[in-house]
Amino acid sequence: MSQDYKTHLSLEVFPPKKDEEFENVYQLLRDLNQLNPDFISCTYGAGGSRSGKTIEISSFIQKELHTTAIAHITCVGFTKEDLKRNCDALKNAGVTHVLALRGDRPQSMTDEQFNQREFYYATDLVRYLKEHTDLCIFGACYPEKHFESPSMEEDLRHLKEKVDTGVSSLISQMFFDNAYFYRFLDRARTMGIDVPVHAGIMPITTAKQLGTTVSLSGSSVPKELADIIATYGENKDDMRKAGIDYAIRQIRDLQEHGVDGIHIYSMNKVKTTTEICNML
Ligand code: FAD
Repeated sequence: MSQDYKTHLSLEVFPPKKDEEFENVYQLLRDLNQLNPDFISCTYGAGGSRSGKTIEISSFIQKELHTTAIAHITCVGFTKEDLKRNCDALKNAGVTHVLALRGDRPQSMTDEQFNQREFYYATDLVRYLKEHTDLCIFGACYPEKHFESPSMEEDLRHLKEKVDTGVSSLISQMFFDNAYFYRFLDRARTMGIDVPVHAGIMPITTAKQLGTTVSLSGSSVPKELADIIATYGENKDDMRKAGIDYAIRQIRDLQEHGVDGIHIYSMNKVKTTTEICNML
């Protein structure tokens, strides 16, 4: 590995659900920014009442913290008109980077409404952004394949199309077994997907969190992590310690393999994220 090799560090935050919590988000961002991330991304909840907050938070990251902000945007919930308005708002807010996503069907939407979206796949959104804006566009990728895709090969074919349309970096879905990431990266590189890929890491600090995470992401749970839950799941402090230790070991191994970047799904938890970053 060359001496100037550096793994990029990035963090993901979400807009808090309640106004009371929103008051604290700026301090939380200041604290996370102390970890010197290369960028901070902010999620977008399609159809949610908090959706406008993504731009507000991204603008704060960019303008006040002087760190690159990545605002997530989804096909779901956006007509062409909405997207144009959103892009103007991003420009006015000083946000220059987006993560272009398809999004999933929110509970409040029927299948019919979901299937009538104007931008069908993330690639359609990327194409529009490329033609109408000068935003720097990130995209999502799936080391264990996207749950709807019939095969890894087909998922990678669509990923290549998305990248070729105008994606300059990828952020991966969370995974708990690095072997999946290395296999995915090998296949992606072989297919000519040569943009930086940031490896998504979700620190698991409670047994309940793992259940929710796995049902949302579909990521597999290796025996070692399952054993941690079985051994420490009932003891809050020990579980937290073991979960943080697992994430650190996962990240160290990724760094040793020379990955482009580590993207920590911070879940707005400053203490856990700081403990992990300080140990690296
Ligand atoms: P796409 O790239 O469109 O792929 C979706 C599926 O369609 C895949 O199976 C793909 O293989 C297939 N496909 C693509 N193109 C074609 C084609 N031309 N023909 C046929 N099939 C095709 N969701 C949110 O709502 N808000 C967020 O803020 C958010 N942040 C995320 C951040 C990261 C890092 C990740 C990994 C996911 C995030 N998600 C978020 C979840 C994401 O919206 C879902 O995983 C969604 O199901 C897929 O989004 P995508 O952009 O990867 O879709």
